[in-house]
Formats: sequence, C-alpha cells, structure tokens
Amino acid sequence: EGMTISELAKRTGRSIPFLEEILVNVGEEVGSEFDPVSIDVVELIAMEVGVNVKRLHSNEGAELLPRPPVVTVMGHVDHGKTSLLDALCQTSVAAKESGGITQHLGAFVVDMPSGASITFLDTPGHAALSAMRARGAAVTDIVVLVVAADDGVMPQTLEAMAHAKAANVPVVVAVNKCDKPAADPERVRIQLGSEGLLLEDMGGDVQVVEVSAVTKAGLDKLEEALLLQAELMDLKARIDGPAQAYVVEARLDRGRGPMATAIVKAGTLMCGQYVVVGAEWGKIRTIRDMLGKVKDKALPSMPFEFEGLRGLPMAGDDITVVNSEERARMLSEGRGKKLEKNRLEKIGEGRIETPNESENVPERVELPIIVKADVQGTVQAVTDALKSLNSPQVFVNIVHVGVGVISQSDVDLAQACGACIVGFNIRSPPSSVTQSANRASIQIKVHRVIYHLLEDLGNFIVDKAPGTL
Ligand code: GDP
Repeated sequence: EGMTISELAKRTGRSIPFLEEILVNVGEEVGSEFDPVSIDVVELIAMEVGVNVKRLHSNEGAELLPRPPVVTVMGHVDHGKTSLLDALCQTSVAAKESGGITQHLGAFVVDMPSGASITFLDTPGHAALSAMRARGAAVTDIVVLVVAADDGVMPQTLEAMAHAKAANVPVVVAVNKCDKPAADPERVRIQLGSEGLLLEDMGGDVQVVEVSAVTKAGLDKLEEALLLQAELMDLKARIDGPAQAYVVEARLDRGRGPMATAIVKAGTLMCGQYVVVGAEWGKIRTIRDMLGKVKDKALPSMPFEFEGLRGLPMAGDDITVVNSEERARMLSEGRGKKLEKNRLEKIGEGRIETPNESENVPERVELPIIVKADVQGTVQAVTDALKSLNSPQVFVNIVHVGVGVISQSDVDLAQACGACIVGFNIRSPPSSVTQSANRASIQIKVHRVIYHLLEDLGNFIVDKAPGTL
C-alpha cells in the first residue's frame, strides 16, 4: 500500500518540500501532504534518498489456494543432476505431448496420476539458488539433493546442504546411480546422517529415495516423495491481486527479442500489464505455458514464458506489476541508476561521492578479485602476483580463489561483492556465463602469461581510479 507525503517525510527524515520537488520531477501531481502516494512513487523516492524499501504483499483477507511445489536439483558435479533432470523431464507433460523432444526453457512441469503436479527448475541448481537467495526471494520450495551411490558425500554435496539450510528449504535426497555394481546407498545414508541430516529411517523427516537416472528406476518414488514433502508444507498462494513473480531464465530470441521464463509466487500476472523486472521494464505481450500454448494469465507455481521486455533480465530478478508505462519507465530508470551507483561504490569505495577530496588525499581504492586457475599451484602463483599490485593507493582484495573454469556461481559472487574475475591457464568461460557477466557489468580477464595479466589489470586500475598507478 502507498503512504502520504507527510508519512514519507517522517520515514525518510526529509522535508516535505524536498519530497514534493522529487514528485514534480517525476511528473506526479502534488496535492496536499496528506494525499496518498502510490507504492511505485514511494519506491522511487526511497531510491532517490537512499533508503531501502521492501514491498510487503499482504495476504490478509485474501483467499489462499493450494499450489504445486517448485523444486531445484542440487549436488556434487558428476553425481547426475543433469541426467536426473533429463529423466524427470521425460516424464513431463511437455515430453509426452512432443514425443520426447523438449526445449530447455528453465523449468518444466510433471503431472502426477493423482492430478497434482510438480514444477522443476531446470537451471544449474547452484547458481539458481544462490542468485535467488541473494535477492531474498527463494522461489524454491524443495531441494532434491543428488548423491551418487558409488561416490558418496562430496564437498559440493555439503555445500548444497548448507545452501538449502541457509535458505530454509527442506531437502529430499536422491541417491543416484543405484544401477552401478559399486553402488552403496547404505554408506551414503550413514555419511549424510553423520553430516547432520536427519534421515527418515533414522527417526528424522528427510526422505531418501534410491534412483537411477539411467535405468529410470525409482523416479516415480522420487516424485511421490516430493509431493509428500509438499503436502507436509501445505503450500498455498493468493491468486487474486497483483503478481509477485521471479525470473528463472532469460534468453534473446532473434525475432521476438528478450524472452524470460518466470514463476509467479503469489497473485496473477496478466497479459497487457506493465512490469518492472530488475532494472528492465516492458509490457507483457505474450504469455505461454511450458507447452508453448498461449495464455492470457499466469498463476502461482506454474512456469511460463513471456515476451515484451525492453532488455534481458537476469535469473532471480523480481517482477513487479505497475500501473502505467510511465511508471514502469521511471522505476526501471531509478533502479538502473541505483545498480550502477552500487557497483561504482563497491569498486571505488566512496571515491565517487568525494571527488574534490580525493584530488588532494587519494583514498586507497579497493580492487576485489576472484581468481580461477587450472591447478592449485597456479592459483597461488597468480594470487601472489596480483598482490604485487598493492600500493598506498590500491588494495588488491582476493575475495575468492578456485580451481577450474569460471562458472555462473563465480559471476554471482563477483556481482555480490563488485569483484572482477581473473582466469589463468583455463579456457574462456561458456558463452552463457560471459553473457551474464556482461549483463552485470562484471569484468572477466583470462590470460596465460602473468605479465599480460598484470598489464591488463594495471590498465583496469587506471580506468577505475585515474592517477593511482
Ligand atoms: P552432473 O554434473 O551432476 O549434472 O552429472 P551428469 O548428469 O552430467 O552425470 C555425470 C555422469 O554420470 C554422466 O556420464 C552420466 O551418464 C552418469 N550418470 C548419471 N546418472 C547415472 C545413473 O543413474 N547411473 C549411471 N550408471 N550413470 C549415471
């Protein structure tokens, strides 16, 4: 709900004339200080004065209806996440209708014989969940934790458990590769138990299902376990009123322009509505379900694809419905400015705000860096070399190091801390990762010669903080 100018003044600690001036600037009519201002304008003003606002979606009095669970698959690399998603997708409505050929749009729906359905997020689980969590918008209701029966609990298994716990999302364990002779599901159970997961057969409430993505054994049991978990959670959503929705995947279609796959968390999204998505805006032109059928609206938990945005959003962006094109444009502009400001602040650490001072007393510019390299030894060598860039003016802050290619999860982290990513002696990241880095204005620098790397970063520093090298 909106509030009055007088209330707004109290909340932000700014004078009424000051707020009225902003209102005039954004083309709002200014009446009495007790006139209500709409929620969009409140958000805009809050951005101008640097206050954080959160839209509260009140469910009070609204009718709540059951909704399907939204499920994300996570687990250690090579334990079978992709294979399991593929196998589950083969049981989806889309696969049945298309004779098994399905497009990967970021989500699919499995219909159960009972009439219930399950929505699976078909995105690399890790990136999706951490991106969602970073924006405080866990769209995921349940995590399927995949553990290979022949390999057992591994580092990323534990990481996935930690993510799920932090996001307060319950876990259902899928012990995969049970077709293999070396499979030892019992060992997996014991390992998980000793990591603190309270498994069902040990008196806890975490279900464990033995499956094989290859033979497809146990998939029906896994789906049933997910529905049971969903029932326990009594998932419900408001249907009426403006939608609160999240992007799970976005792509650029040559003919149609930006397309996004999204899921409504509450309310109903309708064709023709103006929306602000992250820092992009648009008018919902077409809504299609995951079978490609055109719909006039999208309901909670059912993934859909839509057209009509001006630019490409990012996975995890929230979708906000606004009243008019003008509002949409205004809000997205405000958010864009805010994002840019945050980014510059993270890199420049206050330099932007005090240009005069910094001329005389240059502040030390922090340069957050994520380092990825082929082997541990190289990581160390690169880290040491980067530290040689430290000076009274520049502080190289290595926020994360790792072995292997640059992944979406590195980009997420870089975005969270305003870092640039340095890769050494590794392949360039996949184009999807590069694109998402570009969208978030994150620099990725891949080199094979230390000298070139240092030279490149030197130039980068001069760009970011002129006069410091
Ligand atoms: P991800 O990295 O977790 O996505 O793992 P993938 O789905 O790419 O699987 C890694 C490897 O394990 C591939 O070679 C798969 O064919 C194999 N694999 C996955 N699931 C099974 C399974 O249930 N049984 C067997 N025998 N192999 C599997």
